[in-house]
Amino acid sequence: MPTRPKPKPAAIHPHLESVLFTEAQIKRRVRSIAQELKSTYGDGEFTIVSLINGAIMFTADLMREIDNPVRLDCIRTSSYGEKTKSVGTPQVVASLTLDIRNRHVLIIDDILDTGKTMKLVAGLVQKLHPASLRTCVLLDKVGRREVEFKADFVGFKIPDKFVIGYGLDFAERYRNLPCVGVLDPARIKSPA
Ligand code: 5GP
Ligand code: MG
Repeated sequence: MPTRPKPKPAAIHPHLESVLFTEAQIKRRVRSIAQELKSTYGDGEFTIVSLINGAIMFTADLMREIDNPVRLDCIRTSSYGEKTKSVGTPQVVASLTLDIRNRHVLIIDDILDTGKTMKLVAGLVQKLHPASLRTCVLLDKVGRREVEFKADFVGFKIPDKFVIGYGLDFAERYRNLPCVGVLDPARIKSPA
């Protein structure tokens, strides 16, 4: 029988200045958010609205920690492109396909920064008359808010640093890192 190679610890990516949250820390926090959701929703059904692409990993992992009946839909908003700060007003690029009237809706995003994206999407969802609306983010840059917005469920509060990994990108790269870390500022000038 072939022997299985020993799993190697995930190497820290050379483009990271530091790791903020390891894969194990994220996993533990995702589990505890799932418990928080359980105490809010009980065994009831709710509809997840995931903001793609950034929330893709968080949504996929969180959903697998939930045994409630859930429906999933996605919204895509305009992205930063190759910048590290949001400029102007975000726009909805692709909207909902499910009917959410009278449904309990949970919007999930990767990170709350200025608050503009969540405010926009929450406003859009609210107009469709859900039974309830709550929001959940993995990361919250509390000090960066430009419009008032408080998420109902927050994974981790973080300082004002540009972070990548676990779904979060810089110029569409690094989403597949299993951890969340601060991008080496030298990479911001030359992403290649
Ligand atoms: P907001 O509208 O709150 O300013 O920005 C929210 C969106 O900006 C998030 O969905 C995310 O796509 C992006 N964003 C904000 N901060 C960061 C960050 O530190 N790293 C990455 N990769 N994206 C961020
Ligand atoms: Mg995003």
